[in-house]
Amino acid sequence: MDDGLLAAIAATAGTPVYVYDAGAIRARYAELDGALREDGARHHVHYSVKANSNAAILGVLRELGAGVDVVSGGELRRALAAGFKPEQVVFSGVGKTPSEIEDALRAGIGLINAESAAEIEAIACVSARLSAKARVGIRVNPDVTAETHPYTRTAERGMKFGVPLDEVIGLARRIRELPALDLASVGMHLGSQITGDAPYRAGAAKLGTLVAELRAAGITTLTSLDVGGGLGIAYADGEPALDPAAFADAVAPLGRATGLEILVEPGRYLVGNAGVLLTRVLYTKVSGGHRMLIVDAGMNDLLRPSLYQAVHPIWAVGARDAAATDVVDVVGPICETGDFLGLARRMPPARAGALLAVGGTGAYGFTMSSQYNSRPRPSEVLVDGEHWGVIRERESPEDLVRGEHGTPRWLA
Ligand SMILES: *Cc1c(COP(=O)(O)O)cnc(C)c1O
Repeated sequence: MDDGLLAAIAATAGTPVYVYDAGAIRARYAELDGALREDGARHHVHYSVKANSNAAILGVLRELGAGVDVVSGGELRRALAAGFKPEQVVFSGVGKTPSEIEDALRAGIGLINAESAAEIEAIACVSARLSAKARVGIRVNPDVTAETHPYTRTAERGMKFGVPLDEVIGLARRIRELPALDLASVGMHLGSQITGDAPYRAGAAKLGTLVAELRAAGITTLTSLDVGGGLGIAYADGEPALDPAAFADAVAPLGRATGLEILVEPGRYLVGNAGVLLTRVLYTKVSGGHRMLIVDAGMNDLLRPSLYQAVHPIWAVGARDAAATDVVDVVGPICETGDFLGLARRMPPARAGALLAVGGTGAYGFTMSSQYNSRPRPSEVLVDGEHWGVIRERESPEDLVRGEHGTPRWLA
């Protein structure tokens, strides 16, 4: 997406606005799918909806032949509304409610990944009540450390995710006793923004051993192995990123050795670098020697810098070639010192009204947005070749109070 197009979109759609590039998503999908195919793995890519759940983005991925990985009843609903077939849906997450489980079973989804023995009993209970047969997977905690932000590690001992490796065989035996369940899969999800293939290799080795043990224990119902998502991207030029060929090389042998289909659940990898957040400078200010650009997007629009200390590239739209002579903090309007989009950035001098683009915001941008400080959520735009259009309206002031009842009668 060139700066001229971004400027035109901002002029028409207003700011802040997220802009996504369909072509970039298609290219990433082809890269990953191609790498897995080259390695000869029978596989299916299940896009992780929580990265970016806009219906138009889901539509782009559905057309490519992807399935989805959902982590709530709301995401399940979005996926079905976007036209994904129920059997293309994997339902993950550590705290599914009985009603979410029921919705998933009624829809006939492909796989429910359970994360505890108690959840298996809950799924069996709902499934029996519906006289259904649920295809379940066990998400294993393989005790593998991924070098990523502490908040996005998920596979170490003692974390809330997954079933400890040494409890899986016992749980599989329990599932075999339950007529309402079939154990169709075992899997892992190691964390997010993982840029090396070593954790995947370590995890795959553990899953391979586990499959052999399950088979030795007489479990014959497995059809797939879920290696999760977490594939890391470079937010700026020169940063490390997961190489799709190295990833395929880490997980494909597992598929070949076991004869099982490999499920992959990338979110960020497919959409992260396909999106930018456009924001305008409201004011400039110097305080205590710090030069600041106060912009119209804040942590309610893009939480990653505040939550994960994530560093996103920021550039002045239309001025990429100008000399970056200023060092500025790009801060939002929210009443929090932690509300910033970028600190100590080298940029060309920018005045009020200048348009800035925050790169790498296609994943975990809009989906983590909130109305904090009673700010309407921004709009979203999809660019596809020469076409572009709004795919989500900017929220209105009415949206901010939707569902509120005013002063209760006993107080009035
Ligand atoms: C969040 C999540 C993913 C996707 O993670 P990315 O880092 O965006 O690839 C995949 N699987 C599960 C179970 C998840 O919770």
